[in-house]
Amino acid sequence: MKNAKGRRTFLKSAAGALGLGLWSNVELEAYPQNVNTNSKPSDLRITDMRVAVLNRVPMTSPIIRIDTNQGVYGLGEVRDGASKNYALELKSRILGENPCNIDRIFRKIKQFGGHARQGGGVCAVEMALWDLAGKVYNVPIYQMLGGKFRDRLRVYCDTTGSNDPKVFAERLKERRDQRGFTWLKMDLGMQLVMQTPNTVTRPAAIPPLNAPPAGQAGAGGGRGGRGMGGFGGGGLPTQHMFTGTELTDKGIAMMCDYVAAVRESVGYDIPLSADHFGSIGVNSCIRLGKALTKYNLSWLEDMIPWQNTELLKQITDEVDIPILTGEDIYLKEPFEVLCKAHAVDIIQPDLETSGGILETKKIGDMAQEYGVPMVLHCAHSPVGAMATAHCAAATENFLVMENHAQEINFWDSLVDGIDKPIVNKGFITIPDKPGLGITLNEAACKEHLMQGEGWFEPTEQWNNVGRPNDRLWS
Ligand SMILES: [Mg+2]
Repeated sequence: MKNAKGRRTFLKSAAGALGLGLWSNVELEAYPQNVNTNSKPSDLRITDMRVAVLNRVPMTSPIIRIDTNQGVYGLGEVRDGASKNYALELKSRILGENPCNIDRIFRKIKQFGGHARQGGGVCAVEMALWDLAGKVYNVPIYQMLGGKFRDRLRVYCDTTGSNDPKVFAERLKERRDQRGFTWLKMDLGMQLVMQTPNTVTRPAAIPPLNAPPAGQAGAGGGRGGRGMGGFGGGGLPTQHMFTGTELTDKGIAMMCDYVAAVRESVGYDIPLSADHFGSIGVNSCIRLGKALTKYNLSWLEDMIPWQNTELLKQITDEVDIPILTGEDIYLKEPFEVLCKAHAVDIIQPDLETSGGILETKKIGDMAQEYGVPMVLHCAHSPVGAMATAHCAAATENFLVMENHAQEINFWDSLVDGIDKPIVNKGFITIPDKPGLGITLNEAACKEHLMQGEGWFEPTEQWNNVGRPNDRLWS
């Protein structure tokens, strides 16, 4: 009763403040109190899109700002390592649109996205539209998605590798004991063992290791990631199956030793996942997976390229550790192919590639129907991380999301308006503020601008890209 009275008092005073003293309480109850009356949603129009490219946050991330005729703006992030032009190309297609019509705009522009980095522009725009709509209607994004299943999002962190298994194990232990993470991930690439003779069988003609195409050194560089040995002549990436690379029993035994050292250090109670195996063939994936079974890993990630549904299913059927893929997949349909075939045990979309916030929730809901859980890939700035968090909060089959910024000590400082540390003891608390729930800290962001890039400078050259004929059918 006390609360009810308090609410009536509040409503009366609110009505008085609004000059609505004649309204009855009943009418006031029905009035959408939370609509931000600074803006008239139906009159809202997109007037501009500008970009600031941040560097090493942890990757290169173009942050976009979509402006409107009412001063309210939305923030989005282009997938790490992708060109800002993927977003700017869309500017002429969204100018004059009402940003609150998120799905309508998404359907208009989604033909300009694609797998991996090509999805970056569409996803950045979609993210910024949700931020805008949330600010206009004064609700957090998770609420517009249907509400939340959880207040805190479990986070896993990547761990920098070491050729010394003991050092590697200590780093993982520190993640758990000092930082409070409840889910760990390690890189377990063939580069850990291949300096030792007779561990990896591969043709001598395969190009030098760790030689991604010019200008693409970054996440994979030095980590022996997917690119390892997978780049053929002229920087054209070669899929694992076409590199003729297989692990020997000795190589597999040495890789198992790394995992054994980690398990010895952190025990078996905490989930431990593994990624970045290198460009090894399907048979080696299966032999390695079988050898790793006793270490009870939580998933083996991207063992081969995601496009190969039947080969993935072969690995999944043979190996008794969950097989996971998805960070480079654009839109729901390819995820459904994998889920329907049970070619993977877990999917891991990156919502800066997968189609944005709503599409990723749809992907999660689809996967749930097949009994497949969803992990969310996230090597983003705090902007993309919070977009990921809102989606994770609102999707039931969510398992855990990534944080790739444990070594980036200024990562939190890039944004304001949210409790810090953003990742606290292995969890992100979903904010209740409108939209994404964050603002950029201009001073901190300016310190980490990509060299040669400005701070949301005019982009008029993108206002009109000719007379595009965007139709998909005739
Ligand atoms: Mg990965």
